[in-house]
This record gives sequence, C-alpha cells and structure tokens, in this order.
Amino acid sequence: MNAPGAVNAILALGSNLGASRDTLSRAVAELADLPGVRLQAVSPVVRTRPVGGPEQPDYLNLVVSVETDLDPHELLAHCQAVENAHHREREVRWGPRTLDVDIITYGDLVLDDETLTIPHPRAHTRAFVLQPWAWMDPGATLNGTPVSELAARAEDLPGLEIFEGD
Ligand code: ATP
Ligand code: MG
Ligand code: MG
Repeated sequence: MNAPGAVNAILALGSNLGASRDTLSRAVAELADLPGVRLQAVSPVVRTRPVGGPEQPDYLNLVVSVETDLDPHELLAHCQAVENAHHREREVRWGPRTLDVDIITYGDLVLDDETLTIPHPRAHTRAFVLQPWAWMDPGATLNGTPVSELAARAEDLPGLEIFEGD
C-alpha cells in the first residue's frame, strides 16, 4: 500500500563509463535520499551490450521501484540532479555516459510533453530495462503486457547477463 497521495514509479539506471557498479549503488542511495522518495525494491545488476549509438563499452543496468510524493516533473528533475552529481555530460545521443536515470512508469500515468514521456517510449523494447524489472517484480506489466513477456521478445536479450562483479 502506498502512503496517501503517493505513487509507485519505476526508474531505470545505466552506466558504462568510470566505476559503473559503484556509481549505480551511490545513485540508488542518492535517489532515495529525499523524504519524498522511498525505495521499495532494487533489481539485480545486469551487464548489457550497448544498443544504438557509437562503439562503446558494455553497460551495467538496474531498475528500482520507488514510492514518491513528487510529481512527474519534480521526479525527472531529481533524476537529472543525481545524473549531474555523477558528472553526466550529454555529447553524443545514446553515447557512453557515467549515469543515465530514466523514468519508466509513474503509477498508471500516460504523459507526453516536451520534457517527459511516460511510460518511457522505448522501455517496452529494451531487455536491459525489462529483464531486471521482471526479476525484481515477476508480476509487473507495462501497457497491459507482462514485462517478462516483453523481455523475452526484446532483441537485446541475448547480450544480457547478471553481473556478479568483476
Ligand atoms: P533514451 O530516452 O533513449 O533512454 P537517453 O536516456 O540517453 O535516451 P537522455 O539524454 O538521458 O536520453 O535524455 C534526453 C531527454 O529525454 C531528457 O532531457 C528528458 O527531458 C527527456 N525524457 C523524456 N521522457 C523521459 C523519461 N521518461 N525519463 C527520462 N527522461 C525523459
Ligand atoms: Mg536512457
Ligand atoms: Mg535518460
């Protein structure tokens, strides 16, 4: 049960530059370091091959479930503040980055404006989001379809493995 007025959101984190495993752990703690954001679950960490963009190192990815009192744009600003704390620079689209934090879902909200599209418009095709999410919450659905089913269909699933550490 959520607190009154609170919403459950799924956030996806990725990193392929610097000390990625450490960056992800710190980012999860920083995301939850606001009274209005409470961590509910964290997925396993996966190692994935980059999708699109230039030639670049493998990614580490995870997803988290949070209960939040922030509105969607406040939550995006918070995610971007955590990215910025890790010196995220946007140079090449889909290029390497120290940290990416995307909002995948925000309750049942459907939203599409200049800065925010929810559900995330590419999440339903991305095993690096869907598979850790399905492991974290086997009953999860996205746009009415089981996340585990979407993961099984995703083209990048063969390149994904659980990350146990280097
Ligand atoms: P992708 O969206 O394909 O995962 P990306 O995460 O690398 O690519 P970014 O550079 O992190 O893209 O974000 C570009 C812009 O996307 C952000 O400035 C933000 O305004 C916008 N955006 C739209 N919808 C979302 C969302 N659901 N979560 C995060 N950012 C979003
Ligand atoms: Mg992204
Ligand atoms: Mg992003």
